[in-house]
Amino acid sequence: MDLIIGSHVSFTKDKQLLGCVEETLSYGANTFMFYTGAPQNTNRASIDVNKTILGMNLMKENNIDYNNVVVHAPYIINLANANDDEKYNFAINFLKQEIERCETLGINKLILHPGSHVGCGIDMGIENIINGLNIVLNKPSIVKICLETMSGKGTECAYTLEQIAEIIDGVNNKNRIGVCMDTCHLHDSGYDMSNFDKVLDKFDELIGLKYLECIHINDSKNNIGAKKDRHENFGYGYIGFENLINIIYNERIKNIPKILETPYVSLDDNSKERIYPPYKFEIDMIKNKEFNNNLINDIREYYKTSK
Ligand code: FE
Ligand code: FE
Ligand code: ZN
Repeated sequence: MDLIIGSHVSFTKDKQLLGCVEETLSYGANTFMFYTGAPQNTNRASIDVNKTILGMNLMKENNIDYNNVVVHAPYIINLANANDDEKYNFAINFLKQEIERCETLGINKLILHPGSHVGCGIDMGIENIINGLNIVLNKPSIVKICLETMSGKGTECAYTLEQIAEIIDGVNNKNRIGVCMDTCHLHDSGYDMSNFDKVLDKFDELIGLKYLECIHINDSKNNIGAKKDRHENFGYGYIGFENLINIIYNERIKNIPKILETPYVSLDDNSKERIYPPYKFEIDMIKNKEFNNNLINDIREYYKTSK
């Protein structure tokens, strides 16, 4: 059995899908996740067919299965608050277009932060999410929307498995819905990741494991239940190396793609700007099941000398 592991990669204007695949290969990964533009805005370039075909060919050559690749919707898309009609409708229309972009790119999983209620309350928030999803998912498509489990920061909805179950329960077209677990978010919302089988049992009981489509693998900068949502490098946070390795190699989720969203590394200890991707070195640790206690320096050395 082959581990399905990858990371967040960039989808740039000039290289698009081809660039994503090249970046993935440079990390020794066999899957990837990308935003179709900047994560924090909704400006999107049109998808270039040639770059898509070149990307798909490179995936094929390297045995990257498009079924394991995921797109992440920008995080300013918010279905949980419908007080501002214009914003709510914009979110719905953007998601419809994002689904079309996924179709063009041949990718069938779109990850979505369900949304923040921004004061209208969790129950109303969940109702708004359900209504929005039912509008977005009202026609047939190969693309599933995968609801991400959130940390509970601010007024975020969907930070418990019960809330995710409630949303799915309200969605009419259940063939087009899935779930993306995020280890940092689960930990931050109070789930004990040192007993992942128990979390999976709970997931199976409330939602059903068949809905699980992706797992974001991140360590956390904060203690269990902190609701902060600050990702830490693999093995360097409060979840820890052993627990994350046990999650990744858990037999019950061996077919689920695992995606790192751990933070970039700064040039040196004095600089705040994070410029070096950690993924090649984190994936090495994961494959070797061996903690690298010199991770940050190894990353700096590697990218300083390769440039
Ligand atoms: Fe996310
Ligand atoms: Fe995530
Ligand atoms: Zn997060």
